[in-house]
Amino acid sequence: MPTVAIHTLGCKLNFSESSTIVRRLSEHGFTVVDFSDKADFFIINTCTVTGSAEKKCRTLIHAVHRRVPQARIAVVGCFAQLRPDELKTLDGVEFVFGSANKMQVIPTLLEAAKQSEETAEENSFPTNDQTFFSSYSSDDRTRSFLKIQDGCNYFCTYCAIPFARGRNRSDSIANVIRNANEIVAKGIKEIILTGVNIGEFGAGTSENLYQLLIALEQVKGLQRLRISSIEPNLLTDDIIRLTAKSKVILPHFHIPLQSGCNKVLESMHRKYTRELFAHRVLLIKELIPDCCIACDVIAGFAGETDADFEETYSFLEQLPISMLHVFPYSRRPGTKAALMPEQVDEKIKRHRVERLLALSDQKKNLFYNQHKGYIVQVLFESEEKDGYMFGFSENYIKAKTSYNPKLINQIKTVQLEEVDKNGIFSTSLRDF
Ligand code: SF4
Repeated sequence: MPTVAIHTLGCKLNFSESSTIVRRLSEHGFTVVDFSDKADFFIINTCTVTGSAEKKCRTLIHAVHRRVPQARIAVVGCFAQLRPDELKTLDGVEFVFGSANKMQVIPTLLEAAKQSEETAEENSFPTNDQTFFSSYSSDDRTRSFLKIQDGCNYFCTYCAIPFARGRNRSDSIANVIRNANEIVAKGIKEIILTGVNIGEFGAGTSENLYQLLIALEQVKGLQRLRISSIEPNLLTDDIIRLTAKSKVILPHFHIPLQSGCNKVLESMHRKYTRELFAHRVLLIKELIPDCCIACDVIAGFAGETDADFEETYSFLEQLPISMLHVFPYSRRPGTKAALMPEQVDEKIKRHRVERLLALSDQKKNLFYNQHKGYIVQVLFESEEKDGYMFGFSENYIKAKTSYNPKLINQIKTVQLEEVDKNGIFSTSLRDF
């Protein structure tokens, strides 16, 4: 979050304009700090009524530059109107706007802050850093999270992850298979592929996610493979078809949608349209009718109007999605969206979140009710609660049965009976 401090010389008009300038900047993501702080940007709103006012202005500029040499100084107002050339030569002064165009300081500083963030983005991680640390979890005896990819190059405007985790990089197929074999050798039955943006696996090499999935299907003893979260533009029709005929890759996708309005998707810098998303979902349902499809949605992104939200809502309402993960948009410091105008009021955001959560409940209920009486395969885990143990079906339906240590890490055929308020099915064992 860039910081700004302002000092006002002269008349009341200057004071009122200064207050508008800082208010606008703070509405656009700036933090307003005291002039004695080390701000990123300093604004001096000048006066030229007397020679002493001009002298005071020069003294202030020198003092700020000495105290915070990296600060970027904007001089605005009457003195700047009369002596722009002289002011531009002073150390630290980067922007000069006379009275005629002093409000120009607002978009100029917004743009300058954006550019310095972009430079920070570029500098925060060396672009050629391809260091990849492979890892997998093995503390759970039944399922292992296997990391295949790290970082992201997408820079969606709301997301701080690329700054935190750096650029896209992947493991090699050979090494993932080595890890998968180790996991299977530990007796673990299910692998969940993880990464920041796993669809980008292998980007910049001759390998890709589709090839990795085919190689993983061949790992002897691996019974279940879950793809987890994958961007809609990268969940190719080929991957969907492969999943449809695979005995190992599970019918469960988590696809981040974020918005069902193309205007908002574009402003988020997402790499797909609502039409592409709908195509993926409909193809999945055509080829794998019982597939669980979860998707992420952000409510109240900057600039999302009521009409944009309604577009998202009706888009989701019509699509055969199983459940939604709903997030209110939150301004991440350092991201482009944090500086976007038209931030949505928190109350409106909350209201949109509530509507989407209610829609998610409807969809979940429908998905669960459609599965009542189904025969599914559940991998039972070790946790015990109130005399029950739990596990997930192939299509990610949570099920329970009476606790029996012999069932831990066993895949059992069960019939789904009744679903409780937490979305957990009671079952009867049906091992034929
Ligand atoms: Fe990358 Fe996902 Fe963040 Fe977009 S939202 S920048 S795809 S990690």
